[in-house]
Amino acid sequence: MGFEPLLIEQKDQLKDKLKEVFGYGQFRGDQEVIIRNILNGKNTFVIMPTGAGKSLCYQLPAVMLEGTAIVISPLIALMKNQVDQLNALGVNAQFLNSTLTKTEINRVKKETLEGKIKLLYVAPESLTKPENISFLKSSNLIFAAIDEAHCISEWGHDFRPEYRRIKSILEQLGNLPIIALTATATPKVKLDIQRNLQMEDADIFKSSFNRENLYYEVRSKKGIKKQLIKFVKAHHGKSGIVYCLSRKTVEEIAEFLRVNDIKAAPYHAGLDSNVRIKNQDDFLNEEVHVIVATIAFGMGIDKPDVRFVVHYDTPKSLEGYYQETGRAGRDGLEGNCLMFYSYNDILKLEKFNKDKPVTERENAKILLEEMASYSESAVCRRKQLLHYFGEVYEDPNCTDTKWCDNCRHPKEHFEGQEHIVTALEAVLQTEGRFGLKHLTHVITGVNSQYVQSYKHFELPVFGSGSENGKEFWSSVIRQAMLMGFLSKDIEQIGIIKITPKGRSFLKEPYQVDLLKNHDYGKEEEPSITDEAVNTRSYDLALFDLLKGLRKKLAKQKGLPPYVIFQDPSLEEMAIVYPTTKEELSRINGVGRGKIDKFGVPFIEAIKEYVVENDITTASDVLIKSAVNKSKNKISIIQQIDRKVDLEEIAESRNMKMEELLGEIEQICFSGTKLNLDYYVEQIMDHDRQNELYDYFLNAESDSITDALSELEDEDFSEEELRLMRIKFLSEYAN
Ligand code: ADP
Ligand code: ZN
Repeated sequence: MGFEPLLIEQKDQLKDKLKEVFGYGQFRGDQEVIIRNILNGKNTFVIMPTGAGKSLCYQLPAVMLEGTAIVISPLIALMKNQVDQLNALGVNAQFLNSTLTKTEINRVKKETLEGKIKLLYVAPESLTKPENISFLKSSNLIFAAIDEAHCISEWGHDFRPEYRRIKSILEQLGNLPIIALTATATPKVKLDIQRNLQMEDADIFKSSFNRENLYYEVRSKKGIKKQLIKFVKAHHGKSGIVYCLSRKTVEEIAEFLRVNDIKAAPYHAGLDSNVRIKNQDDFLNEEVHVIVATIAFGMGIDKPDVRFVVHYDTPKSLEGYYQETGRAGRDGLEGNCLMFYSYNDILKLEKFNKDKPVTERENAKILLEEMASYSESAVCRRKQLLHYFGEVYEDPNCTDTKWCDNCRHPKEHFEGQEHIVTALEAVLQTEGRFGLKHLTHVITGVNSQYVQSYKHFELPVFGSGSENGKEFWSSVIRQAMLMGFLSKDIEQIGIIKITPKGRSFLKEPYQVDLLKNHDYGKEEEPSITDEAVNTRSYDLALFDLLKGLRKKLAKQKGLPPYVIFQDPSLEEMAIVYPTTKEELSRINGVGRGKIDKFGVPFIEAIKEYVVENDITTASDVLIKSAVNKSKNKISIIQQIDRKVDLEEIAESRNMKMEELLGEIEQICFSGTKLNLDYYVEQIMDHDRQNELYDYFLNAESDSITDALSELEDEDFSEEELRLMRIKFLSEYAN
């Protein structure tokens, strides 16, 4: 056991692997440096927003190194999802959790001990079991990745007590390098994670929380149902989530969408678990396009092509809102985030809090105020959101691409120098010890209780802004915070302080541009002609066709469609029209494993489409040296001729059994006769062989899926079926 860094790294080795296994041409953000850090055996702390590509940071090193990486992950659904995706790529990943049978557990353990498994996903509960600890001790482990690491902290939004025991168990496993990953960025949680995992020395990689591909928009709730239908119909056939506050609204809106011919289903904790699981699966499998849900939906749902997230009711906090909108566009393509806002919602939410203890109530109220001010403000949404998470957003990108409603439809501006001076003076003169509400009272001259008891009516600034109302001043103060003149106190929630930048502004004021707030109460029902439209450069008809094919294939294989190919790959196919495996391999997101598993029907479909539509493809534009596959096949044939066990062949070629069978099938389908009797004899008795033989002889097709369902009661494994089919075809067809 222990860790051997990859010593000699050939140029571009990482990039080659990235393309070969995952099919991507480029690393995203910090992925490459993070991966190098892990390959060097260092403790690594990755803080990246949802969808930024955290998983690849540990998956790629695990694929490259000898031995097994353990991945600790809190949710079984999430684990299964990743394992499915990795297996589809041809990477041996398995999970160990309470859903497995005894036999399955033994198999996973055996394969781990034999060093066959690259990534072993473990639930924290399973990790703490003594029998698992002892087996892990005898395995060759390379590092431990702790996904959703914020579960360690009580201050995170999803505390899991078992997570606190991870470190002591990892210590027993021989001090593996640790990679902690999370999308929760608050400083408090970050510190907790580092302390608990004793990795204060870790190299930290925190990337921006900006999600460039998400379009943020806030609309008034007036005429909401009509707006909703128009919005969803504008995204016809695409996957989306509509969040509602109550179970009742969820049911009502799901029904409402359904009667309007939209494939929608509800999801909330009050539904029977069978229904819930079915609705979720239908959504993942694209039987249902829109899931209408309470916030119970989403944790652990890793559907990369969610194209829109609607908040039907105003959310409780910006944290939650950002998390939920983050589920859109994880594949990097368009994601439309539409929130409906009404101040009444804020008041309603406030009422819900009335039975809570005082401090909790106060905190909840502050969160709600932030929510309201975000919604009403005309400042760039992106700038506001990132500021809320402690990031300064200077990038004029949003304004350039106008990727939020406020940048796209700018509100009225006004010269604000004097207003800012007044706001800063109010903070200074009250000695930076008060919150927003009190400051607006002082500026507008309201004789409140606080004003009385602190004698703030004596201050020069008192009443100096009485020509404008409290809302106006509250907006000015918030804009002063966004500009960095004022800041929130970290220790005392709600308190506003002046910054050095604010002080120098007061010494030498200059012109500043301020924006008037929205007034959703007065605004007319918004015109809905201006959806965020994505300029498409791909062949929409082909894209739809490929999507249909993907769905069909997914259904056959019992996999969610995106496991086959993700949307960006299909879009690219609809741009470059690949008609050979070679060309297909150049598409982003298409690696070797996927070509072998799923490539052929896609190539066939594209070929047909190209001919039908008389399209000239760019097939001879790019030349790339591909691994010589025919050589691979020849040596498989030679080994089979020498009667080498298939397991051994697979192992020697670093293939999974499934992949090897795929290769053998291709050899067989292309007309080469293979004699697998020596192997079939070992694994099946004659009765079973005969039964399958008869089946293939009489069956209408040679489809394995059909065979599996026809022979459901006989308990044949897919491997047995595939082997017999090869034997059968070799004898009859070839
Ligand atoms: P996170 O765990 O950070 O929320 P994921 O690891 O699920 O994000 O990745 C989000 C999406 O980005 C996935 O669909 C993944 O396949 C894709 N992805 C990751 N890395 C790359 C890359 N280098 N190039 C293209 N797509 C990538
Ligand atoms: Zn903007």
